[in-house]
Amino acid sequence: MAKVIVVGGGVGGMVCALLLARRGHRVRLYERRSRLGGKLAEHRRDGFSFSLGPSLLTLPDVFTDLGLKLDLVEPRELCHYRFADGSALTAHRDPARMAAEVERFAPGEGRNWTAFHAWGRACFAASRRAFFAGPLTRPPAHARPSDLWAVAPGRTVDGLARRFFTDPRLRQYVGRYATYAGSSPYRAPAALACVPAVEHDHGGWYVAGGLPRLADALAGLLEKAGVEVALDTEVTEVPADADRVLGVRLASGERERADAVVAGVDAAALYGRLLPDRRRLRRVARLGMSSSVFLLLAGVEGRTGGLAHHSVVFSADYRREFSDIFERRRPPEDPTVYLGCSAVDDPSQAPEGAENLVMLVNVPAGDPGRWPIRPESYRDLVLERLAARGHDLSGRLRFVDLFTPADLRDRYGAWGGSVYGAAYDGPFSAFRRPGNRGPRRGLYLVGGSAHPGGGLPLVAMGGRLVASLVEEDLP
Ligand SMILES: Cc1cc2nc3c(=O)[nH]c(=O)nc-3n(C[C@H](O)[C@H](O)[C@H](O)COP(=O)(O)OP(=O)(O)OC[C@H]3O[C@@H](n4cnc5c(N)ncnc54)[C@H](O)[C@@H]3O)c2cc1C
Repeated sequence: MAKVIVVGGGVGGMVCALLLARRGHRVRLYERRSRLGGKLAEHRRDGFSFSLGPSLLTLPDVFTDLGLKLDLVEPRELCHYRFADGSALTAHRDPARMAAEVERFAPGEGRNWTAFHAWGRACFAASRRAFFAGPLTRPPAHARPSDLWAVAPGRTVDGLARRFFTDPRLRQYVGRYATYAGSSPYRAPAALACVPAVEHDHGGWYVAGGLPRLADALAGLLEKAGVEVALDTEVTEVPADADRVLGVRLASGERERADAVVAGVDAAALYGRLLPDRRRLRRVARLGMSSSVFLLLAGVEGRTGGLAHHSVVFSADYRREFSDIFERRRPPEDPTVYLGCSAVDDPSQAPEGAENLVMLVNVPAGDPGRWPIRPESYRDLVLERLAARGHDLSGRLRFVDLFTPADLRDRYGAWGGSVYGAAYDGPFSAFRRPGNRGPRRGLYLVGGSAHPGGGLPLVAMGGRLVASLVEEDLP
């Protein structure tokens, strides 16, 4: 039996801790906040509940296979998209129905959507065999030579969208998937565009009571498995000798020894602060920072007829929007807005006769003090844009709570404010993320900034992967 310390109670760290404890190791998890879950966090006010991070669960089997009991709810449609010209597209889960909807929306493109879906399905299957299944340091056992071509190597998400669609609105719809990882469709690898196939084939789910209930359910399993969880306890250092890690040092100054340390924190925070390593920090920095988000959480009077659980209200000029975020590094003048309303499927999320609206805008990581516009004025701009595109909330707002990138950086402990970890910048960037073994024996990395990347199912897969590496390495 070995002693393992997990730093950070995000989903990746929790899954890894759970599996190691179940294999009989003594596992202690340190979390600097008073609650487990990391980005699976929520905000409550006056009877309204809002998710501060994830709103959509894909591949729930990754979690239920761990023994997690989740009250899963499937929204009526995957998403409702509204474009700048006033047109709208509803993403139905059923692929045949979706192809028919795309054909109605843009005659001639229905067949192209079916081909795009088949590509996404093959890309996901190849990624699962070749990329997600193991650490990047050894050849995957079940990969096939054709898997390399299945992910459209060398193409960006936008390049892939151009291969399948001629209608610019459908390219914008495909491009949206790069933002799931805080990246630009003009720079992120095409493989990120396999996500819609995952949603259509496996569903896009909600957890009753809000997605943070997933973290509560995981916390329950940790307790059952005997993981010792220390909340409100920050790790300030991972001491090591030239060969291996020795344990952790806490903010209180206390030191604790361990046979293995699993860092479930941002790789940049690990190499910048906990175990300073300039070379590795530079390598992480070269990946480029992901975008951050500007969140408006609104308690809204009344119910909006026909409102979907998930909607996206697109900007008129997508290229300009991403150049604002990643090159000019200012919040977009004409932003795309994600609108989430879990009260559509779950009355517990808002008082009767009201709705909880999450409005999320992609903005640059970093300090809003450097923006050419004050956050409060930007909030008004976002609300005006929404009103101009058919979502007028004036007269119905009970309150709007604002979370800027600086607020979220502090809340999530996100290094440099890059809330999704490193960006996918360049067609081969997925292979350049930090691996799961650290530079000293006994040190491991898990979570959104390490292989295989961010998103709830992926960080959970990473947790499983790291647990098996620790087992493999321990005497
Ligand atoms: C706005 C937003 C929306 C998203 N939407 C979705 C979605 O709809 N679906 C989806 O699948 N994914 C979504 N994601 C991605 C998903 O939330 C993340 O990939 C995932 O939650 C990251 O998990 P993690 O294991 O990396 O840990 P994190 O959630 O990053 O947690 C790390 C934990 O470590 C703790 N910590 C940090 N430093 C220390 C220290 N020194 N000592 C002790 N503890 C420390 C932190 O407090 C935190 O609890 C979204 C992300 C964001 C930001």
